[in-house]
Amino acid sequence: MAKYICSICGMIINEKNSSFNKEAFEKKNTLEDIKHCPFCGVDKKYIGDEKEVELINKKIEGLSSDALKILDHATKLEVFNGDFYKKASLIAKDKKIKDMFEALANIEYMHARVHKTLGGFKELPKLRDMDYSKYNSDDILIKIANKREQHAVHYYTKYYSVLNSKTLEDIFNAFISVEKDHINLTINI
Ligand SMILES: [Zn+2]
Repeated sequence: MAKYICSICGMIINEKNSSFNKEAFEKKNTLEDIKHCPFCGVDKKYIGDEKEVELINKKIEGLSSDALKILDHATKLEVFNGDFYKKASLIAKDKKIKDMFEALANIEYMHARVHKTLGGFKELPKLRDMDYSKYNSDDILIKIANKREQHAVHYYTKYYSVLNSKTLEDIFNAFISVEKDHINLTINI
């Protein structure tokens, strides 16, 4: 397998890590066919040969204050969802669901890190702990997960037109389709 790199999160993809977070994908990567980045989940069209790919995960200069606000909020949204999945992976009872939540947490945190880089933010936000006592079954956790994914797609879609940056639009598009996959994943379980 050739060495690939993801232009969006900047991670190098090789035979050792190509199936990382596989529980978060309906269609799995194989060594012959890398379908998505195992780290941020984006489609293979954003992945390429290490020597040829132009990385877009760097600070975007000249973003409008509106775009920066949206990006800041998107960072929080992804940390919020990452925190949820991390906690959900601990309290879920079914092993398959636990593993899926853990993989989803990794991917949402990676989205947050990409946004942090793009916006040039110093650190990821630390959000207040939620009360999880009412999420006392795997069914409820799955339902909440699905709602959060729908909210993420809604957020990215709603603010897409005011970004005024081709790079940011590309990344929002890429993440919209990742979150749409997550919606399917949390319906079909
Ligand atoms: Zn990636």
